[in-house]
Amino acid sequence: MSGSFAAPRKSLGQNFLQDPNIIRNIVASLNVQPHDIVLEIGPGRGALTELIIPLAKQLHVVEFDRDLSRHWRTRAESLPNLVVHERDILKFDLTDLLGDATAGVRLKIIGNLPYNISSPVLFHLLPFADRIDMQVVMLQKEVVERMASPPGSKQFGRLSVMLQYRYVIENLFSIPPSAFFPPPKVESAIARLTPRAIIETPAQNLDDFALIVKQAFAQRRKTLRNTLKVCLTTEQIELAGVLPSLRAETLEVADFVNLANVYTETKPR
Ligand code: SAM
Repeated sequence: MSGSFAAPRKSLGQNFLQDPNIIRNIVASLNVQPHDIVLEIGPGRGALTELIIPLAKQLHVVEFDRDLSRHWRTRAESLPNLVVHERDILKFDLTDLLGDATAGVRLKIIGNLPYNISSPVLFHLLPFADRIDMQVVMLQKEVVERMASPPGSKQFGRLSVMLQYRYVIENLFSIPPSAFFPPPKVESAIARLTPRAIIETPAQNLDDFALIVKQAFAQRRKTLRNTLKVCLTTEQIELAGVLPSLRAETLEVADFVNLANVYTETKPR
């Protein structure tokens, strides 16, 4: 297969999976059903794509590489359930696929994400979580560990809080560089993100929540009294039920929400 493709482009994070067992396991993690509409980010040479095509009702692929997109457009000519979008995923508006809320369209998302844009892609998809059934993404192993790490651990940070607020995150399995062509420099891992049906402590304003989380982790070694002082007084931190002498990494996700909600209620308008 590789003979008919141009050489892999480093600038687009092109490391193509070639281990059939790993490919099967990744696709199985998404549990595709015949009624599912699936979005694949970066189909590349089709390692995952070709297995998903016969399983899904419809498969949308978003590929930035012009040559690879051409390959998929040709492939789609004989496949009525394959839709090709030659686009940058970070500029791709998911509402184009989902329509408005009344359309009731839901998606499953899969992607072996280019490492250099993996966190921005996850943040780009976050506002659409209530229309997504599940996401299976491959990322640098260290990023998956950060996403899934619990409060109190060294890796617990902004990414963990923002994603765990909205999703249940599973670190499913690791993938060695040897499973790819060309092999990347780092280990990879598969994460499954399942949107929470109920958010027990909801943020009143998501932008305020994001701001408080960012601010709290801006200087990890400092206490909340210091890191949050541009947004909240010591009394306001206490009002949220949080000790101002703590550091961000020791808080639960709900603590950040409570802090953000106090900020939302009291910030100058
Ligand atoms: N899914 C294939 C696999 O597992 O072998 C390819 C994975 S490769 C790591 C990443 C793919 O994403 C490449 O095909 C690359 O061209 C594409 N890509 C890179 N940046 C992109 C972007 N901003 N938007 C859409 N696709 C992108």
